[in-house]
Amino acid sequence: MFTGFQNIEYPEYEVITPHTHYSFTVSTLNVQKEQRLKGSLVTPIKITEHLNRILWECTVSRPEEIKTYEDFMKKITLKDRDALLYGLYHISYEEIRNYMVSCVACNKEYPITIQASSTFNFNPYPSNDILTKVIKLPLPKTKGVFAYIKQPTLIDEITAFKSLSADNELISITLPIQKFTQETEGGDDTLVYDQRTDILDAYMTLPPLDKRALFNEYAEKFGNFGIELKCQTTCQYCGNSDIINIDLVEQFFRMVFSV
Ligand SMILES: [Zn+2]
Repeated sequence: MFTGFQNIEYPEYEVITPHTHYSFTVSTLNVQKEQRLKGSLVTPIKITEHLNRILWECTVSRPEEIKTYEDFMKKITLKDRDALLYGLYHISYEEIRNYMVSCVACNKEYPITIQASSTFNFNPYPSNDILTKVIKLPLPKTKGVFAYIKQPTLIDEITAFKSLSADNELISITLPIQKFTQETEGGDDTLVYDQRTDILDAYMTLPPLDKRALFNEYAEKFGNFGIELKCQTTCQYCGNSDIINIDLVEQFFRMVFSV
């Protein structure tokens, strides 16, 4: 009967979360966890749930503020998760293998293989209010309407996925919107839409320039802080050089499925 290998210690990798500035160490995936991730690919809700759970299980040392999985879900942002995912990827697979790049010059696709660590860029959020800060943005085209923008956490994401039946991409895009309000010229007559279904419906009625203002505001205040995986590539067909951003979630699942 298998009772576990004796005296094995797998290496750990330290991850600083870029938004909340916590320190975790993560240790490698194993075949059992890979199998669980493979089994989760039926629905986006399951993928997200399993990914969060497995990231948590792969952390070895954790910050004092995060004692339970519930703390983790409430206090870790989506950008923090990207960093943890990078740490887990790095310690489990080391290389980004056969990542498909499409050339912007000739449109052909070619694979690249690189060390994950060589692509890593870190841009931390500069203060300590990431979980509480809310920006009130006047919409440029829908006059008198304000969008309140904040950084979503893991619990915000899974709650939205479970409570809404809309397209998942749309749910993700609207996650940073906490509410919409409308103020009359007097200033006190205020309509408030703070339920996720209402926020989604309201978002669908906005002109493109309001949508762009929302994205830009979110990116500037929250979204641009985090990790980025960049690398320079040269097209094997036409020689065009380009700097690409690697989509780690996509690559992560590709590695789970490869041998
Ligand atoms: Zn090319």
